[in-house]
Amino acid sequence: MKAPTLISLHGGHSGQYCTHAKDLLEDIIQRYVTLGFTSVGITEHIPPVNDQFLFPDEKKLNLTTADILKRFEDYFINLNSLKKKYASKIKIFIGMETETYKGSVNHIQKLISKFKPDYIVGSVHHIENICFDYSIEDYERVVSLCGSYETMYEKYFDLQYDMIKVLKPFVVGHFDLIRIYDNTYKKRLLFPKIAQKIERNLNLIKSLDLIMDFNLRPLARGEKEPYITDWILNRAKKMRIRVVPGDDSHGISEVGGHVEKAIEILTRAGFDTKWPTPRLLS
Ligand SMILES: [Zn+2]
Ligand SMILES: [Zn+2]
Repeated sequence: MKAPTLISLHGGHSGQYCTHAKDLLEDIIQRYVTLGFTSVGITEHIPPVNDQFLFPDEKKLNLTTADILKRFEDYFINLNSLKKKYASKIKIFIGMETETYKGSVNHIQKLISKFKPDYIVGSVHHIENICFDYSIEDYERVVSLCGSYETMYEKYFDLQYDMIKVLKPFVVGHFDLIRIYDNTYKKRLLFPKIAQKIERNLNLIKSLDLIMDFNLRPLARGEKEPYITDWILNRAKKMRIRVVPGDDSHGISEVGGHVEKAIEILTRAGFDTKWPTPRLLS
């Protein structure tokens, strides 16, 4: 049997177009080529809808929404030319990682019609319009705002459900990201009210024939398992949902990180490793 090809459909953030990433986009592409990737999806973060949703490091640099939008335009121009330049070596899929907050749907739909990406990664990084994954302090703030961890998890999966329904992202990004700073997430995800919402979201993903991101960022941080956690992965397998690795790289040193291991896990679990071709669904 032919060995599965290396793939990442979520990552390739670069210092050129993302303030919390490192390195030039072309160097990142070259690293994928060197590692033997024959196709890859590059999915830079979308610009914020307004200054309220700038990342803290962008605010620190006094960047505005207009600056980031300009940077995002440059990203598409550059990535389109890199796609052509490296076409004989690697198939580049031009993507973008979306957000979920007040006004995001309209904003994303406009970005899609303006930039015409090959596909999108649909992510949720905000609850009650506050980013929860940037730091543990942000996370704790959102917990207290929600009143409890359980309520926060429930809100997360509800926001994710609505996002999936309206955007139909080809890749659903880091499905259980909400566990990011919670040491007892294993137990928490199994709470009946939360597990029900997970099951509901998986059913929606299946019915729309979307793909789940097997996101390797936790492994890069030294944690035990990727997003998604093992039992959700098993559920996905039973439901015949496609799962594809995403290195979520934010610089050359993270390119392709743990992708071989991810493929090994997916192969062992019986997933199809003939990777699907990303496309726009909405
Ligand atoms: Zn990022
Ligand atoms: Zn993300």
